[in-house]
Amino acid sequence: MRLSKFFLPVLKETPAEAKIISHQLMLRAGMIKQTGSGIYSWLPLGLRVLKKIENIVREEQDRAGAVELLMPTIQPAELWKESGRYEAYGKEMLRINDRHDREMLFGPTNEEVVTDIFRSYVRSYKQLPLNLYHIQWKFRDEIRPRFGVMRGREFLMKDAYSFDVSEEEARRSYYKMFCAYLNTFARMGLKAVPMRADTGPIGGDLSHEFIILAETGESAVFCDSELVNMPPPGLDLDFESDLLPEVEKRTKYYAATEEMHDQSKFEAEVPEERRLSARGIEVGHIFNFGTKYSEPMKANVMTSEGREAPVHMGSYGIGVSRLLGGIIEACHDEKGVIWPDEVAPFKSAVINLRQGDDACDAACENAYAKLEAAGFEPLYDDRDERPGAKLSTLELIGIPSAIVIGPRGLKNGVVEVKNRLIGTTEEMSLDAALNKLT
Ligand code: ATP
Ligand code: MG
Ligand code: MG
Ligand code: MG
Repeated sequence: MRLSKFFLPVLKETPAEAKIISHQLMLRAGMIKQTGSGIYSWLPLGLRVLKKIENIVREEQDRAGAVELLMPTIQPAELWKESGRYEAYGKEMLRINDRHDREMLFGPTNEEVVTDIFRSYVRSYKQLPLNLYHIQWKFRDEIRPRFGVMRGREFLMKDAYSFDVSEEEARRSYYKMFCAYLNTFARMGLKAVPMRADTGPIGGDLSHEFIILAETGESAVFCDSELVNMPPPGLDLDFESDLLPEVEKRTKYYAATEEMHDQSKFEAEVPEERRLSARGIEVGHIFNFGTKYSEPMKANVMTSEGREAPVHMGSYGIGVSRLLGGIIEACHDEKGVIWPDEVAPFKSAVINLRQGDDACDAACENAYAKLEAAGFEPLYDDRDERPGAKLSTLELIGIPSAIVIGPRGLKNGVVEVKNRLIGTTEEMSLDAALNKLT
């Protein structure tokens, strides 16, 4: 991408309405624009990151055996009346009437719709286990939308729904998602800690929230510090094997959100130097809720004993758009964002310090073409701008590595290679620079 042809409306000043660093940086780097309270337009740079995050989530869901579909954003109220949640959900649900005065709503979550799909087609235990997911916009009329995409009203969520013939099988499905979540967040450069959580209006008995620790987090959390740096199960995990040991390796340590916290248990189980009480951001939440929806909605399957029984379900959410804020909270410095490689909007950049100078232009075009060919997704700053402005934009938007080309260096046969993460600048020949990056 040539920056002269891209749309990157960076801001010089920090907007006063943004209270936390991730929101400030997303606005300054031209990633999002507020369109209404808690409702955002995704500008091209922000959209590129959103798509990368979405893709990591998708790949890890697929790897764990979940199957993607796409359900609508607008749902009929009838389904929610069937499950009994229509009244209970309260003011967070945006209720809409269509021209025939039929009651509709903008989906805050999809248990009802997916249960209706399931019951229309699946009759037998032989078609199970099944896990269906989608990545779709949700609307929740939050009382206090704030912190940008962290707590929006319209936001992108991945939600998966598992269907099993028994409680025991349902737990196996739960463990798959538990492990898939650890791998997903690790690929984004995040340390997400699974914590015992309240099931709230979704219901059920087994539930974990995945929390990234951050001072600006909205939840108070308590855990054993051993959990924080534990490596993920890894992408070579066999999802058909028994995953309980992987889960227990983590759940044996104390970790709870505020609602589930028990101070005396915390003190009894965790040695003082490992007691971590901190703030965190909820980036994912998984639930096993049995037959809470299948019973009222009559989603039954034939068991192997030839009996009809309500299917056992679980649901598994990831806050895809919230993750942008979460990653920036975890990965930034005073100059701007520092994207982890896998989610960076561009993997590399070429900075031309003197646009219009024949030697500089030629060297930059060459570098740009080679990085592009090598799949390095380069952003080429070919604008007619001062070097200082180009370099500060580069730092603000957080591209992991850059080749900086100027007339003085070229005379000596060198360019600069900058690494955003470790903050180094090295001089070398253009060929060496290309080798280093690709
Ligand atoms: P919170 O406690 O932050 O209100 P929640 O518990 O209501 O979230 P869930 O119903 O568990 O949310 O939804 C699954 C995931 O969707 C959450 O873990 C979170 O990452 C994301 N999410 C929920 N509400 C929002 C929101 N208003 N804006 C952005 N992401 C959200
Ligand atoms: Mg909520
Ligand atoms: Mg919550
Ligand atoms: Mg939750």
